[in-house]
Amino acid sequence: MILRNPATEEVIHEFRHATVDDVDTAVAKAKAAGPAWRAMAPADRARLMRRFADKVAEHVDELALLETQNMGMPIGSARWCANAVSDVLHYFAGAVEKHTGSSIPVAGGIDVTFHEPLGVVGLITPWNFPMLMASWKIGPALAAGNTAVLKPAEITPLSTVRIGELALEAGIPDGVLNVVVGPGSTVGWRLVEHPDVRKVAFTGSTAVGKRLMQGCADQVKRLTLELGGKSANIVFADADLEKAAAAAPGAVFDNSGQDCCARSRVLVQRSAYDRFMELFIDAAKAFTVGDPMDPATAMGPLVTADHLARVKKYTDGLDTVFTGEVPSGPGYWHPVMIAAPDYADPICHEEVFGPVVVVIPFDDEADAIRICNDSDYGLSGSVWTQDGSKAIRVVRAMEAGTLSVNSNSSVRYSTPFGGFKQSGLGREHSMHVLDHYTELKNVFFAT
Ligand code: NAD
Repeated sequence: MILRNPATEEVIHEFRHATVDDVDTAVAKAKAAGPAWRAMAPADRARLMRRFADKVAEHVDELALLETQNMGMPIGSARWCANAVSDVLHYFAGAVEKHTGSSIPVAGGIDVTFHEPLGVVGLITPWNFPMLMASWKIGPALAAGNTAVLKPAEITPLSTVRIGELALEAGIPDGVLNVVVGPGSTVGWRLVEHPDVRKVAFTGSTAVGKRLMQGCADQVKRLTLELGGKSANIVFADADLEKAAAAAPGAVFDNSGQDCCARSRVLVQRSAYDRFMELFIDAAKAFTVGDPMDPATAMGPLVTADHLARVKKYTDGLDTVFTGEVPSGPGYWHPVMIAAPDYADPICHEEVFGPVVVVIPFDDEADAIRICNDSDYGLSGSVWTQDGSKAIRVVRAMEAGTLSVNSNSSVRYSTPFGGFKQSGLGREHSMHVLDHYTELKNVFFAT
């Protein structure tokens, strides 16, 4: 497999894919490492995870460079992600000793619950935030006492492989975290089929997520899914329009729009539509697209030539109200685009995963909610209004799992994250995620 820098098209790495046999070896190693990892004193397991987190923090520049060269993420964002990986690992190191069971009043004795680790878990991650998505799964999986086999997206594996090495350097015992790199259809699917893998935690497309659900059914294998989105950014006429418009480009163009939470549908109340559009276009003009190694760059290229072609299927010939500039020369560049197409256009409904946003007018609160929920997806979204009661009514009515009011920032490792409808199953982050990496055991002690 050849990896190219998406900003320059230069070959940056060549490697051999893992095979199904390699997956079996990794699962066997994870299984063998399980009993000792699970039996380790919680304080010791937490200490090792903290060391791992610190090791990542010591290698932020190296990890960021790998991410930028491999997937085109601007270097500033990549550094932020590398620091966030360390923070996520610290958070779950802290959770090791805090995921407590309960005692329940019953007649004739006491009743106690335990959170038992599942055993070997299979972690499958996408290419859009490679190391960050890996940490969202490694943290809770290991904290809960499981051992893991992690399969990153085969086109952006470099930072994840390095994180696997850093785990070993930090003293995480051999076999606790294993990384295998290869195609989803063989290497990833083996994790679904392998009888010793007790759970699959998947982040990726809804189409593949559906296949995994079918694959896991045979063994009633535990499965969590973080899938696609078409999130709505709802701007009411009584909002601080300047603020809403200034924040709107980042909410959809960050990471070149390759973000499951991208607010790729902006819903604007009709009476404020023209003013908002003017402000939005002005803000988008300031969104610099260029060399991802330049710290001033807001947006880099798309990840691969194939993905660029996929995005262009939606945007070639699209009637836009604003189209930005892209650098000339090599690289998988796509300009930022704001469009106001007919509502029936597939671009208003399907996840494009590129730097394009549709703006849709609405009449009133009920209309905004109707349009927002007219989607198979339900991952994220925002509401902008200065009327607090309206904000509460609207967020409660939105069919989505991860929302924000007067902000587009809704993802934090200490708060639950996940989707309604076809955006997923289960939650990541916060103490809630630990329930997805453990079985709840109930024991009655007769007295
Ligand atoms: P993808 O579904 O193509 O691939 C995701 C991962 O699954 C990759 O590692 C891939 O190799 C593997 N895979 C593919 N087919 C498989 C199979 N048959 N069996 C097992 N594994 C298989 O998704 P992608 O293109 O890498 O990522 C983009 C998608 O991910 C978008 O839809 C995006 O919205 C979604 N995403 C969701 C979240 C979230 O938290 N909800 C976060 C990031 C990305």
